[in-house]
Amino acid sequence: MRLTRYFLPVLKENPAEAQIVSHRYMLRAGMIKQQAAGIYSWLPLGLRVLRRIETIVNEEQERAGHIPLLMPTLQPADLWRESGRYDDYGQEMLRIKDRQDREMLYGPTNEEMITDIFRAHVTSYKDLPLTLYHIQWKFRDEMRPRFGVMRGREFLMKDGYNFDVDRDAALHAYNRHMVSYLRTYERMGLTAIPMRADSGPIGGDDTHEFLVLAATGESEVFFDSAVTELKLGNRDVDYDNRAEVAAVCKEFTTLYARTDETHDPALFDAIPQERRKVARGIEVGQIFYFGTKYSASMGAEVTTAEGTKVPVEMGSHGIGVSRLLGAIIEASHDDKGIIWPEGVTPFPVGIVNLKQGDAAADAACEGLYKALAAKGLEALYDDRDERAGAKFATMDLIGLPWRITVGPRGLANGVVELTSRRTGTSEELSPEAAVERVAQIYAGV
Ligand code: ATP
Ligand code: MG
Repeated sequence: MRLTRYFLPVLKENPAEAQIVSHRYMLRAGMIKQQAAGIYSWLPLGLRVLRRIETIVNEEQERAGHIPLLMPTLQPADLWRESGRYDDYGQEMLRIKDRQDREMLYGPTNEEMITDIFRAHVTSYKDLPLTLYHIQWKFRDEMRPRFGVMRGREFLMKDGYNFDVDRDAALHAYNRHMVSYLRTYERMGLTAIPMRADSGPIGGDDTHEFLVLAATGESEVFFDSAVTELKLGNRDVDYDNRAEVAAVCKEFTTLYARTDETHDPALFDAIPQERRKVARGIEVGQIFYFGTKYSASMGAEVTTAEGTKVPVEMGSHGIGVSRLLGAIIEASHDDKGIIWPEGVTPFPVGIVNLKQGDAAADAACEGLYKALAAKGLEALYDDRDERAGAKFATMDLIGLPWRITVGPRGLANGVVELTSRRTGTSEELSPEAAVERVAQIYAGV
């Protein structure tokens, strides 16, 4: 993408309404625009990151054997009357009437609708296990929408629902989600710690929240610092192997890590003093096992191998897709701007032309741009007729992890400069070598 042809409405001033750094940088980098409290347009740069996050979520869900579908944002109220939640949900639910005076709502979550789909089509244990998920906009009329996309009213969520014949199979689905989430967050450059949580209004036995540590997080968290060292990495987990998946979950949930809702001071005090941490965290996902709560009330039954009919065992599993942009920025920035991890960056690399209009510099930039494209890497080429300082400031603000700087002086020696946004270190190398290096960096991403 050439910057002169792009739409990147960068703000010079700090917007007064933004209280935390991620909100400030998302506005300044021209990623989002507020349209109403907690409701945003996604401008091109923000949309690119949102799409990257969706891609990672999709890839990891499909790797775990979960199947995508797409349910609508608007739902009939009657479905929610069946589970009893239409009255329970309260003012967070946006209720709407259509022209026929039918009661509708903008879905805050989809347990009822997915149960309705299931009961219409599945009747036998032979069709299980089954996990269906979608990435869809939700609406919750939050009392205090704030911090930009972190607590929106309209927000994008991945929500998945497992259907299993018995409790053991459903707990395996729960564990499978935990492992797939660990991998998902790691690919986004995040450490998200699974913490035992409180099941709240969804109800149920087992639930973990995934928290990213950040001073601006809304949850108070208590943990053994050793938990932050755990990494899943590139382990090849067989998602069908119950024991293997359970072992990974055990590894990640044995050390103490809880939110204030489930905090147990006695257990906490048993951790060696120097590893006892109290901090704040951002909830980027949550997994629930809730058994037959919805299937029993909504009549979603399957026949078992023994020929009896039982309500299907279920769980639901959510990732805050749009909130993740804020969480990633809270975890990865400096005083100049965002620092995107390679996995989610809107463009893999930026090209800065120090002297637009200089024949050699222009030609070298065009050459780099095309050579990168040939390797599947779309660079953001700053081809504006601007001072070098302004170009660097824009690149630093929008946070592309790598920058190639091209100027007549370097070119006279046959070199360009490759700079890491994270470390600030630069090296001079030939344009061809720079392309190779960037391609290598992204080969493993
Ligand atoms: P919170 O406690 O932050 O209100 P929740 O527990 O009500 O969230 P879930 O029902 O668990 O939310 O939804 C799954 C995920 O969706 C959450 O882990 C969070 O990342 C994201 N999410 C929930 N509410 C919002 C919101 N208002 N804006 C953006 N993301 C949200
Ligand atoms: Mg939650």
